Order: sequence, then C-alpha cells, then structure tokens
Amino acid sequence: MSSGAVFLNTALLMLKEAAEYLNLDPGLHEILKRPKRTVIVSVPIKTDKGETKVFTGIRVQHSNARGPYKGGVRYYPSVDVEEVTALAMLMTWKCAVVDLPYGGAKGGVACDPKSLSKSELERVTRRYTSMIYDVIGPYIDIPGPDVYTDAQTMAWMVDTYSMLRGVFTPEVATGKPISLYGSLGRLDATSRGVVITAREFFKSVGKPLKDAKVAIQGFGNVGYNAAKILHDEYGAKIIAVSDSKGGIYNSEGLNPHKVIEHKNKTGSVVGFPGSKPLAADEVLTVKCDLLIPAALENAINKQVAERIDAAVIAEGANGPTTPDGDKVLQERKIAVVPDILSNAGGVTVSYLEWVQNLKRETWTIEEVHSKLEAKMVRGFKDVNERAKKYEVPMRQGAMILAVEKVAEAINYQGIWP
Ligand code: NAD
Repeated sequence: MSSGAVFLNTALLMLKEAAEYLNLDPGLHEILKRPKRTVIVSVPIKTDKGETKVFTGIRVQHSNARGPYKGGVRYYPSVDVEEVTALAMLMTWKCAVVDLPYGGAKGGVACDPKSLSKSELERVTRRYTSMIYDVIGPYIDIPGPDVYTDAQTMAWMVDTYSMLRGVFTPEVATGKPISLYGSLGRLDATSRGVVITAREFFKSVGKPLKDAKVAIQGFGNVGYNAAKILHDEYGAKIIAVSDSKGGIYNSEGLNPHKVIEHKNKTGSVVGFPGSKPLAADEVLTVKCDLLIPAALENAINKQVAERIDAAVIAEGANGPTTPDGDKVLQERKIAVVPDILSNAGGVTVSYLEWVQNLKRETWTIEEVHSKLEAKMVRGFKDVNERAKKYEVPMRQGAMILAVEKVAEAINYQGIWP
C-alpha cells in the first residue's frame, strides 16, 4: 500500500469514528467519504536542456458545503491521488474546526522539486495552474503553499491565472509575497498556531512553556518557525531537531537562528557545531515535554509511538500519526493536539489574506496576530468542549466538531436538484 493509500485509510477511519459518535445519517457519511471533484492533469515542460518531461498534477476538491474550496499545493515525488484526497479531507475538517468560511481541497504535482531549476519549477507551476484554471478562482477554489512550494510558487500561480483571465486576481491564491498582497504574518502562521494551541494545552495542565524541552521533526517552514517562536517568544528549550538528512541533539538547547544558518549553508541541520547526531526517527523518541512532528504524514507509527517520551505532541504536520500509533499514544496517556486544530494557523492567516485582498486592504501584523490568536484559542476551547462532552481525546473531539458542522451545512442546503 502506498503511503498515500495508508493516509487516506486513516482519514476515512477518522471520519467513520466521528460519524458513529454523531449517529450521522449514512447518506451524509457517504457524501463526506468522497471528494466532490478530482482533477488529474498532465503537466509537460521543456527542461533547461530542451528535453520534454511530463509530470502528473492533481487537484482534489473534497467539500464546498461551508464555502469555497481551500488548500495547499505540494511538490513531492510520491504525491498521488490518495494522498491528495486525504489532505483535501483534512482541509475540510480544519476549516470547520477554526470556523473559517471555507471547504477543503488540496493539490500536488508528483515531481522532485530539488532536482528542478527555478525556471523549470516556474514552468511546472504555470502549466499546472493553466491545467486547473477551470476549477479554481477566488470564490471557487483558492490554492496556497504546502510542502516544497512557497510564496514564489503562489506568485507564479497568481500571474498565470491573471493572464488567462485578463484581470489582476491576487485573491486566487494565498501565501503570496507581501509585495503581491500576501499577508503579514502568513510565513510563520502555521507555526504560531501550533505554539498557541500547545501553550493553551500547557496552561490547561498548569505548566508554563518557559524552559519546556522541545523536539521537532522537520526543519522547514513549520518546524523552523515553531522553533523560533518557542525559543524567542516563550523561552522554551529546543533540544532536538531533524530534517530529511538526519537529526541533531543538545540537552542545553539549540539556537534555531544558528541552526537555520547552518542548514542554509550546508543543506542540512546535520553536523551543526556542538550537537550530537541523531538517527532519522530518534528525534521523535527523545525525552521532552513537547514533541512537534513537522515533516510528513505517517511518521508516528505503532513502533515509534511505543518509544515516544514526550508529555504532549502538537501535530505541525498533516496526518503525522497513524491509527495504530494513535492507539498506542492513547493507551500510554500521551496527549495529542491534533493536526486539524494544531496546524490550522496557516489556513487561518490565508483566510485573513484573502479577506484583505477582497477588500483591497492591508492589515498590520498586530491585527493579523490578534485575529489568529482569537481563532486558535476559540478552536482549542471548542475542541476541548466536544472532547469532554463525548469523553474522547482531542483528536476525536476535533473530528466530531468538524463533521457535525459540515454535515449540518449539507443537511440545510439539501441535495440538488
Ligand atoms: P517544508 O517543505 O518547508 O519542510 C518540510 C521539512 O521536513 C524539511 O525540513 C524536510 O527536510 C523535512 N523532512 C522531510 N522528510 C523528513 C523525514 N523523513 N524526517 C525528518 N524531516 C523530514 O514543509 P512545511 O510547509 O514545513 O510542511 C511540513 C508539514 O506541515 C507538512 O505535513 C505540511 O502539510 C504541514 N503543514 C504546512 C503548512 C504551511 O503553512 N506550510 C500548514 C499546515 C500544515
């Protein structure tokens, strides 16, 4: 089974479980199990050497019952329809959990972005955008960045869409550069959200984040910025981090600014002066107060979960825990702030960016931060209320909250015609 198929299986199991708690109508469950639309496109480009390469592009639109589809685009070799479908579903739930007026979608191009030049990436992005042009739009489906895509990718998407439409349309994508109407605070929004929900959890058990020992898997956008915010603003100790090449450890704490400098220079966190090397999975099992998986899905399986030595896990990545792994964590009473709550800060500031674009306004960082803070704290509270009511962990609480909202919206609208 591909990693994407495992991930989709997990997403469907989570939905089934929530449907059972809610005693959901079987017809509604059936609707929610399937994406509304799946688009698979061929993305041919000329390489810098003049050769022709063809990639597969995907856009899955899971639900628009609560608003336009919303979700990132990832460039990764193993991207497949199952993975993108699972991620689109998660987006539907995530937007519902923090009460954004959006549905859920996700996109991807199966390619190895590290082996492509900037101009090749531009051609991939422009061709992919043109191929999904018919199904995206500011009130239809709004893409954003995800793994190995960034503000530059979104700028190319906006330009391609605007050229084809003949109208400057920055609101067709979020996560854009600031000079192209991106929002202040978008770059570290996901991480800020992860930290806010972790802080709320710590508060709920009477512990401060100051001096808390933190381990982080993945040192990209989410992992690095979470490390920076925890270190700079909360005085937490980042004791272990990793990337795709391996991990590093220092019980006295790592300075994330220096680690990123090293990574930018050498291509990896590995070999950072004064740190001990860790094997790939070891970052997940070091003794710590807070563990943040911020790489890819399925990282915490049963075997890893049995060895985790953290008080709480805040899921920065999407779907980092397998159902088997989750069961072990529950048995071991390790608390988990689930992905659809914990990492919803990114889509929340994407929503704030979209609203600014539609109103042709630009807000201050203070305005963005205070709106993000309010959404995340409210989401944390709502999830915990559901978890208490149904006597379930936060993950199930979040799913119950989300599925209830989306199902209710579908129910009121009815099935057309
Ligand atoms: P990114 O590409 O910036 O970073 C990914 C990091 O993970 C890189 O440092 C990479 O080296 C590392 N990595 C890959 N495989 C690894 C492995 N096996 N072990 C350890 N590290 C590994 O991506 P990102 O935007 O930080 O996204 C990370 C996760 O967060 C993804 O699951 C993504 O879907 C999720 N997420 C991102 C956002 C966002 O706003 N960027 C929002 C919500 C969720």
